[in-house]
Amino acid sequence: RAKHDGRNAIRFYNPQLHKSAQRRLTLEQELRSAIDRLELRLYFQPQFDLHSGRPSGAEVLMRWLHPARGVIGPLDLIALAEESRQILPIGEWIIEQTAMRVRGWEQSGLLTDIRSVSVNLSPVQFRHPRLVATISQILARCRVDPGRISLELTESVVMEDLKGTLQTMRQLKDTGVRLSLDDFGTGFSSLAYLRQLPLDELKIGRCFIRSIVHNQQDAAIVEAIVNLAEHLNLDAVAEGIETADQLAFLQRIDCRFGQGFYLQEPIDADEFDAYIRSKSGPDSLRHARII
Ligand code: C2E
Ligand code: MG
Ligand code: MG
Ligand code: MG
Repeated sequence: RAKHDGRNAIRFYNPQLHKSAQRRLTLEQELRSAIDRLELRLYFQPQFDLHSGRPSGAEVLMRWLHPARGVIGPLDLIALAEESRQILPIGEWIIEQTAMRVRGWEQSGLLTDIRSVSVNLSPVQFRHPRLVATISQILARCRVDPGRISLELTESVVMEDLKGTLQTMRQLKDTGVRLSLDDFGTGFSSLAYLRQLPLDELKIGRCFIRSIVHNQQDAAIVEAIVNLAEHLNLDAVAEGIETADQLAFLQRIDCRFGQGFYLQEPIDADEFDAYIRSKSGPDSLRHARII
């Protein structure tokens, strides 16, 4: 049966399919040298304290500036890195680059208002047995206060293996980093695990924020998440704020933190440096007003 299928596959050889497989292989090979060629870039999306309007943090979002194909976004980039078994070195590199930048900003006194800088962890990274050791080594080597780094995990990672997840999360907390649950409410969530997990932050998924102004159910869900976070002593961060109305709603329900294109799009490290410089100092209250 298998042989028969195999013959068919060859007989119906599909040049289109071959081309896309070939393209993938080329990309995977190009990815191996992308770091050395300085094509992988960290972008930073500022997060804001929605009360004061001042920057309160940032999320690192990867971009691959491919010389021929243009910008390759993080979803494709991370998928490619996972398939070609490059996610561990690339993931480490991302944390190290972030740590070096954070150290520089800390030394320049630019992080007075900024709580922490967030890095997304892929499920493969999170499951790797050397994750905790690797992260604490990087932070020690870069001499970064671990509390300045926040790691974002997704619900799917947490639900997959609660016991193993809990152990890894506790070890991560012991290193001093902050832990954040990304896209909260969009996955298969159970509220029972929330009180067990050593979390610092809940990020409210963009898909809820999109319709808070027009959809009463989504508005109710977001308000419930904000209240839940408050009672569990977690920071709430709304993602994907695109309009003034969405911002006003979030302020009305006392959602403390937020990020989104309406506030600031992701910018590269040098731009972020200039951005927080322009927003710190004595004039900061006047200039930093986004609200
Ligand atoms: P995420 O962690 O939920 O990141 C937020 C995504 O929403 C980012 O997309 C960001 O650019 C986008 N975004 C921010 N504000 C707005 C807005 O107002 N409107 C809309 N429509 N979108 C907004 P991006 O950069 O394409 O990243 C997509 C996902 O890729 C991220 O989702 C994250 O899960 C993953 N990712 C990004 N960087 C990394 C990384 O370094 N490592 C890993 N493992 N995953 C990453
Ligand atoms: Mg994230
Ligand atoms: Mg996010
Ligand atoms: Mg998210």
